[in-house]
Amino acid sequence: MAGVVEALERSFGSRSVITDPEIISRYLIDWTGRFKGDALCVLRPVNSWQVQRALEIAREFHTPLTTQGGNTGLVGGATPAVRGIVLSTELLKGIEIDAELQIAKVGAGVTLSELNLKAGEAGLRFAVDLASRDSATMGGMVATNAGGIHLIRYGGTRQQLLGIEAVLGNGCLITRMEGLLKDNTGYDWPSVLCGSEGTLGVITSVVFKLTPMPAHRSVALISVDTIGGALRIMTDAKTRFSQLNAIELMSRSGIELVQLLGGDRWPFQAIGAFALLVELSGAFIEVEELAEFLDSHDEVADAALANDSRADGLWYWRERHTVAINHAGIPRKLDVSLPIRAIPAFVGYVNELVEREHPEVKVVLFGHLGDGNIHVNLLNVDESDDELDHEIYAGVASYGGSISAEHGIGRAKVHDLTLTRSDSDIESMKSLKRALDPSMILNPGVLFE
Ligand SMILES: Cc1cc2nc3c(=O)[nH]c(=O)nc-3n(C[C@H](O)[C@H](O)[C@H](O)COP(=O)(O)OP(=O)(O)OC[C@H]3O[C@@H](n4cnc5c(N)ncnc54)[C@H](O)[C@@H]3O)c2cc1C
Repeated sequence: MAGVVEALERSFGSRSVITDPEIISRYLIDWTGRFKGDALCVLRPVNSWQVQRALEIAREFHTPLTTQGGNTGLVGGATPAVRGIVLSTELLKGIEIDAELQIAKVGAGVTLSELNLKAGEAGLRFAVDLASRDSATMGGMVATNAGGIHLIRYGGTRQQLLGIEAVLGNGCLITRMEGLLKDNTGYDWPSVLCGSEGTLGVITSVVFKLTPMPAHRSVALISVDTIGGALRIMTDAKTRFSQLNAIELMSRSGIELVQLLGGDRWPFQAIGAFALLVELSGAFIEVEELAEFLDSHDEVADAALANDSRADGLWYWRERHTVAINHAGIPRKLDVSLPIRAIPAFVGYVNELVEREHPEVKVVLFGHLGDGNIHVNLLNVDESDDELDHEIYAGVASYGGSISAEHGIGRAKVHDLTLTRSDSDIESMKSLKRALDPSMILNPGVLFE
């Protein structure tokens, strides 16, 4: 590794290679504060040629290289596990909107909000939306195959991805940037790299489908007493509303933490065991139909409706969850997906397990209920104690779910991957890794042990 920083400085100039410990410290800790790392330097390339050169130098000096976008990932994948180079994509900018084709060509370092600001000028938007929109980058969203709040309607990041430019670990520059809707000419690089968490290559640009911005939206915040009741409302809403855009779940402990942030007032007298947030959007919205729908459900304990810009006030309660949980301590974030029918049993399993074996732990459940995606957040867990995580993941596996719905495996879940992927599955993934990153320099410690 000796001499790698000097080699980078010779190629890129000392201003692009940051070694000042104070400046690089923000790249060395993840969003939750749980994962920490160390680095020889942070490199901020401005184009794909520089990325290619950086990987060449990293290979030559056998130096690990961790790619980092907006550093909002929740499984520690962007925090270096081994001291080496952090390649930050924050200067890989550039947005081209083709309003006629409804596509966007964007640099990997463009944030979701930046893309939506530009696409909005043409009445378009990116269909995937996350509360981390001001920092999460398009490269990071592809690398994690981010899901978000509109997946039930539009699919996740993979479903929006039409093209990619990336430098693979073996040094090859892959360019599939035509943005064709159909292209069956062999292995599909966008699909291969989507969800690869920086282990196969560095994504430098992407082509995405865009979707028309809906003229109106209507949101209902609904208080319910049981998870079974929440599921019945959800199932009915899915059948009834073609304009359904989101169905999100919250639970009392999370709402109470959001209250502690001291913002808005909870709109109901009491906080029920669970709350649902249902959003419809489109050219026009049948508000009366939504109100009538809520009236027809005995499971609804309380409900509030808001349209268009006032809907943000109701979204506040869901969107502030991740921040509110972080304010309460360093959380374990178990982002899991389950067959929808198994959700009540799984929620019961988690609550009973914690009550019985770890009464000191606080559980905060929320998530994208419409997709079967529950975020199990655990507070007050001892830093070195992974036992509860394993027991919950084992429960997920026994119910036929997945230990990662949308955040990826990162460093947080490497030991549990075998629960829901077979040995031959993992061995085949490793073969792909060895073929595309033969020097094994990209994101060591991420995805595989
Ligand atoms: C408040 C909040 C809300 C969130 N909500 C959601 C949600 O609803 N749905 C969801 O899916 N996630 C959510 N997340 C998680 C996170 O925002 C996403 O995983 C996001 O896609 C990460 O993007 P990033 O640019 O921050 O990536 P980073 O955190 O920088 O990196 C994540 C991973 O991708 C790799 N990577 C990053 N850029 C590249 C690149 N250009 N090439 C190759 N590899 C790369 C990194 O090495 C790392 O393994 C949320 C996070 C927060 C803080």
